[in-house]
Order: sequence, then C-alpha cells, then structure tokens
Amino acid sequence: MTTPLATRFTVGRLVCWTLDAGLQRLDGGAMFGVVPKPLWERRIAPDARNRIPLALRCLLVEHPDGLVLVDTGIGNKENEKFLDIYGVDNSGTAGPTRLEDALAAAGYRPGDVRWVVNTHLHFDHAGGNTFRQSDGSVALAFPGASYVMQRRELDFAAHPNERTQASYLPPNFAPVAASGRLRLVDGELEILPGVLLLPSPGHVPFHQSIVVRDAGEAAIFLGDIVPTAAHLPAAWIMGYDLEPLVTLATKRVLLARAAREEWQLVFEHDPAVARARLATDGENGYSPVPTPVA
Ligand SMILES: [Zn+2]
Repeated sequence: MTTPLATRFTVGRLVCWTLDAGLQRLDGGAMFGVVPKPLWERRIAPDARNRIPLALRCLLVEHPDGLVLVDTGIGNKENEKFLDIYGVDNSGTAGPTRLEDALAAAGYRPGDVRWVVNTHLHFDHAGGNTFRQSDGSVALAFPGASYVMQRRELDFAAHPNERTQASYLPPNFAPVAASGRLRLVDGELEILPGVLLLPSPGHVPFHQSIVVRDAGEAAIFLGDIVPTAAHLPAAWIMGYDLEPLVTLATKRVLLARAAREEWQLVFEHDPAVARARLATDGENGYSPVPTPVA
C-alpha cells in the first residue's frame, strides 16, 4: 500500500495534515462486531489470518497558537511478538517510527509540536506519545508539547481489568503523567480557538473526538467511534467496543450533526479513505455512503 506520508487540507484558514504513521492488522471479525463476514469482507478484505489492514492516521493542525498533533500511532516500544500479532508496519527513517517521517514530510520535527491530544489511550492511539531510546529508557516523543487527555480516560487506563488491560500499556501514558507536561481535561472543551474536544463515548467510556473549525468550515477526527468509512452505518460497531449501545447513540448524534453542518470526516484507521463527507439524502437524513475528499 502506498499512501502519502502527509496530505495537506484546509479547514477555513487553518492548514491541516493527515499523517500516515504506518499500518496494523486486526482481526476482521473483532473490527466489525456482529456484522457477518460475508458483508464486511466485501468492504475490507482479510488476510490468511483473518486480519484486515488498518491505517494509523494522525491529524496535524497548524494552529496560530502552536502545532497540534492528534494521536500518535503505535510507537517503537513493543517487541517482535507484539509487532507480529498485530501486523504492525510502522518503521521510519527520520526518527523512531513512520510518524516522524510523516511529520518531516509536512515540514516539521517532533520538537515543533506544542500540543499532543489523545482520543483515548489505547496502544494504537497513544503508543507514539513516548519512545524507547537506544539505552532502553523511555522518553517523551514530543518534548516541547503539552499532552492533553481526558482525566477520566487516564484513570480508566491506569486501572484496567481483564478485558481492557491488553490495550492500555502504561509506558504509553505513565511517563507523560510523571513528566509534568500533562494537561487533564474534563469533558467538552475548546482547548484552542477552533479546536474542540468533543466526548464521543462507547468504544471506551471517556473517548473523545476532535473537531477543527474555522470560517464556517469544520472537520472531525473521529478516532475509534467510527474507525473506518465502513463503520458509518449505525449498526457497524466494533466488537472491541466496551459499550456498543453507547457507541450507537454517539454515532447517531455525531453523524447527524456532521451531515447537517457539512463537516469533513477524518478516519483514523481506514486503509483507503482518509477523509469523506456524508451525502444528505439517506433514510436517517444522511447517507452512510462516504463521499471521499481528495
Ligand atoms: Zn481504541
């Protein structure tokens, strides 16, 4: 798969980029929950281990108050067994991972990032918050940044149970908490003018999506509430979601608003469709068929 490292787009006067931080492969059945395989395999074809390719796409916003990075991919701290199980392909040349290559393609270095925002703290969203140095120690990947997380998501990640512990790996967030560079927020908040943190629960209870708005235009970085364009239909919900009926309610509200206000949708995990808009003629007032944005 040859996707560009960095793709520029605009929201009003704000310049934004989607950054390709690599690829992972997850079980197709788990990615589509109760949707039967004959339906989902037509959207994204599985490999011999029943895994489907998933992008690790991040969002970069060139905001006048500082460079904002939303989510950080998987990072470089995991061992060979982990990388094989999850089919991770995220090696880079400019830094620890492909995310640093993508940042460079957009014209930036890790030290330029002023704000790192995590939709949630699963390893494929927060893994690049930190990186393993050659001496084995773990350091912040963006040393000049404030790291923005939902307070209750950090608490939820730090107190996992048997179901959640494989996804919440402390080296991705504990060093941030210890560094003094953490900024915890509670619920909906406009952290910078035009950069809105919007709670979007369901996948995990304190998941958030990020809305970028300027001059009458808006884009939403959905995170895992709608990980790919194939997950736009209301009932296409991941088996990984802890509260699938909450995901359903969140999707109804978010997607109706996205259609009404003509938001661009940015998909974190879609291997082919980075951005799309919704058509507004479907049975719910919008069509779940995405219109890709070039
Ligand atoms: Zn997740």
